[in-house]
Formats: sequence, C-alpha cells, structure tokens
Amino acid sequence: MPAPETAAAEAFHGVARPGGGDVSVVMLGRVQHFDAVIVGAGFGGIGAAIQLNRMGYRNVAILDREDDLGGTWHVNRYPGLTVDIPSTSYSYTFEPNPYWSRLFARGDEMKRYAEFVADKYDVRGYMRFGVTVSSARWDEDERHWFITLADGTTMSAQFLIAATGLLCQPCKPDIDGIESFAGDVLHTAQWNDDIALAGRRVAVIGTGSTAVQVVPELAKQVGSLNVYQRTPIWVLPKLDFELPARAQRLFAEAPALQRALRFCTDAVLETMMVLAMWRYRRFRFVNKAAGLAGWLLRLASIRDAQLRAKLAPTYDYGCKRPTISNTYYRTFTKPHVRLETAGIERIEADGIVDRDGVKQQVDVLVLATGFDVWETNMPAFEVIGRNDRNLGKWWRENGFQSYQGVSVPHFPNFFSMASPYAWVGLSWFNTVEYQMRHMARVLGEVQHRDARTFEVTEEANERYLGWVTETLEDSVFYAGNCAGSRSYYFDENGQASLFRPTSVRSALRDQERFALSDYTIG
Ligand code: NAP
Repeated sequence: MPAPETAAAEAFHGVARPGGGDVSVVMLGRVQHFDAVIVGAGFGGIGAAIQLNRMGYRNVAILDREDDLGGTWHVNRYPGLTVDIPSTSYSYTFEPNPYWSRLFARGDEMKRYAEFVADKYDVRGYMRFGVTVSSARWDEDERHWFITLADGTTMSAQFLIAATGLLCQPCKPDIDGIESFAGDVLHTAQWNDDIALAGRRVAVIGTGSTAVQVVPELAKQVGSLNVYQRTPIWVLPKLDFELPARAQRLFAEAPALQRALRFCTDAVLETMMVLAMWRYRRFRFVNKAAGLAGWLLRLASIRDAQLRAKLAPTYDYGCKRPTISNTYYRTFTKPHVRLETAGIERIEADGIVDRDGVKQQVDVLVLATGFDVWETNMPAFEVIGRNDRNLGKWWRENGFQSYQGVSVPHFPNFFSMASPYAWVGLSWFNTVEYQMRHMARVLGEVQHRDARTFEVTEEANERYLGWVTETLEDSVFYAGNCAGSRSYYFDENGQASLFRPTSVRSALRDQERFALSDYTIG
C-alpha cells in the first residue's frame, strides 16, 4: 500500500485519530444501564452505532467476543483474502475511501477501513472486546432489556441491536475420524500463521468462496495440494486492477469521480443480482449468460475435458454464492495440485481416505468448510422477548421471518441486523445502510413522541412476510434448479429465507415509505 500523503490518507492508514466515543456510566441499581447495547463490532455494529450517534444517543456499548473490531475482516486472515465485490461498492456510501489499492481490496485494507470509520465517527470508545453475550431478556415492567454476559455480568439497555453477522460461527465438518488426525488443522476463519506450509503435503476440504481464494495462494507454497470437492462452485472471471497512488490522489481530490466509479460497479452488481437471481423467471437468459461466462473461463483455463467436467456446477448460477477468480481453475492444472471428487470416507491420523479407498498422506488439513448460518447463528445468542417468546424457538416453529429484515413482533426495542429476509444481496454495506435508515425512522418517531418503546405489529410482519415470500417465487431459488447446490442460502426448512429480493434502491426507498403505524410506539 502506498505511503499516506494527506491527513485523510494518514487517518485511513491508521496513523491518526485516537478512538472516540463518549462512555458515561449510568447505573440502574447495581446494573450498568445503556441507551443501547449493540452486539457485534463489525460493519453492522459500527453502522448502527453511527446511526445512534446521529440521533443523539451517546450512552452506548458495543460488545464483541473477539479482541478487536472489524467482524469478518478481523477474524478472517487466510492467505489470498480479498473482497469479492468491488471495493467501490463494498464500503459505506457516506464514507467512500479513495485509498483502496485495487478494485478488489485485500482483507487487511477492509480491517483498516473499519478502524478508520470507527475512529472518524467516534464509536470506537463504545467497544468492549472479549465480551460474549449469552442471552438477552426483555423486562416488560422496566421496559428495557437485560443482557447477560458469559462471565455472569448483567447490563441493561433501552434498545438492543444484534449485529452479529451471518458468517461468524465456523463450521467444522463432521467427518469420520477427523479428531484422530495427528497433523496440523487450520480452519480458514481461525488461521494461524505459525503453522508452516512451505513444501508440506496439504489437503483442503471445501470449494466455496473461501477455497476459491485460498487454494491458488496455498498452491504457491506447499509441496502437494489435494482439494476435496463435494459440490463444484460457480467461478466467473475477476475484472480486477490496481489503483495506483495517482488514481487514489485523484479520487481523494475529486470525490465525484469515485462516486461515478461506484455508480458503475453498483449498477453492474445490481443488474446481475436483480435479473439473474431475483427475476430469474423472466430473465433466465441473464442467468444463463453468467453461466456461459463460467463455462468459457473453464474452457480457457483447463485443457483436460474431464477435469473441466468435474469442476462444472450442475445447479443454476446464483443458487449459492458465486465466486470470481482468474487463478482458481488454472491452479488445478499444476502438477502438484489434485482435485479430489470421490468424496471423503474417513480421516486417519496421517491422511484422508476417499470413497474409492485411495489414501492421501497429509501433513496439514485446511478446513475451508464455511460457517453455520442457521443452527447456532439465528440468533447468535438467546433472545427472550415479551411474554417469554424465545426468538430462536419461535423462528423454528413459525418459520424464519422479520419485518423489513430488522424487526420481530413480541421483541420490543430490538433491531436484528443479521435477520431472515434482510440481506439485499452482494455488498453487506447495502443491507446495513437500509437498516440504518429504518432505525432512523423508528427511533426518530420514538423521540418525536417522547416514547420509550417500539414494537412491530404482527399484522405488519405478516404482510411483509407474505410479500417477500411471494416475490421470491420468481427467484432462481424457486424458479430455477438449485437441487444439489447444498447452499446456506436455504434454511433448515428448505426456504430461501436469507434474502430481501429487491434492488438496493428499492430497499432504501422502502425505509422512507413504510407506515409508522406498522409499529406500536409507546
Ligand atoms: P461455504 O461457501 O459454505 O463453503 C464451504 C465448503 O466446504 C463447501 O464447498 C462445502 O461443500 C464444503 N464442506 C462443508 N462441510 C463438508 C464436509 N463435511 N465434507 C466435504 N465438504 C464439506 O463457505 P466459505 O467458502 O467459507 O464461504 C462462506 C461465505 O463467506 C461465502 O458465501 C461468502 O459470502 C463469504 N466469503 C466472502 C469472501 C469475500 O468477500 N472476500 C471470501 C470468502 C467467503 P458443499 O458445497 O458440498 O456443502
């Protein structure tokens, strides 16, 4: 990354601005009380805190079980980590960063961007690290939340915001014998640079978005690499380029230019998302065109027709997170890299035995096996609302749902950012920003009426659920062929309940338009 040249660049590069945040201690009896407790110090939690600050709330705590801020971008440090959405789009619209080193920035740049934003918007001082939330319970008499931490401490808050993210519970595969493996084991979300890889026999399990990034990097260093694929992933070409210092200077001096670039990257992403995925029934040809780009990339990268066939997905583009890479396919043509497709029978102390009975000796096992999006993550901690309603239990008994992807009936003064039907697709920042607008409207009304509580009505929630599920009928998830995709986009009941199937523009506009009577404010 080039040397900082301006005060703003210095701030982004992490040399300026001490952490801010105005932490006043308010006690209610023996319990520390806050205007709001936010769980999660990633981009969702930072965005929520910025919104609360804008509305005048200063007595805020952001709790995170990790030892620093940034969420995904603090936790993930595997080799090859970059964003897979152009950085111009993968950032807050209100805080464009002219200093990305490439169109697809590296993971460490995202982490620094998180630090920069937290400092600039004065929310770092709210953060408490190494703090795990076990549960939260609404107290109807006191009309606030009691939050219990893993160490037994309790705190209370008028508002509770769960910003725990979708991809934060690493998934360890339940493969026979895995515990008996005597070599080194690395999950990509718990990377350890102290484990040597150079020249060693390495096996990667999994071929999702993470594997697509890590496999080409590992291939550069290891002695041999065996990649165990269960389901092939869609890979499209990556149109990436360096943003040299003079381009960064230009963006810093002429922000309109950067906004124009963002407009272009947003437009491409939006068009692909809306037409190829949300409106699949009508625009199937756009989806097929994306598939064709993947086919052409395989053809250009790999001569061996059998290998190409093994890497070809059999489900429609978009059923699971598609990836981009110019190096992933070519990596399998290297003599020391093998794609294993027979399936894993068991793992032994010194290697992996596949279903054909073939054993590969392995020194290091890399688990690129992703995250548990549903079972332990929806919600990420126990949340008990009004009338003892348990959020996780209620979702499982009644289907995953949330009004506008952020509120749930019977859970007063609660916003859930990693909610069912919340993700507007692609850049997570789009989701966070429409949710910030939603919070602004609801909390603005609470302030306007000098009220203490808000709660979405059952009727509004059902209406939204009806609309979102009906809209999804046209999506690739239901109108296309997702059989065999094994996608985390589908919940435990087989419903595609992660996404809000609209354009970003429409998601943002809806937050200005929903009827405030959809909430009981008192
Ligand atoms: P993932 O997409 O869930 O992929 C996990 C992989 O592990 C899949 O190939 C899966 O196979 C395989 N797997 C899991 N359990 C297995 C088992 N028991 N036996 C064999 N294979 C097994 O996880 P991910 O690659 O970590 O990506 C998760 C998400 O993180 C992505 O969808 C994306 O949203 C995000 N991500 C973003 C970036 C970025 O922006 N830079 C980078 C990486 C990831 P099956 O498909 O057969 O289940």
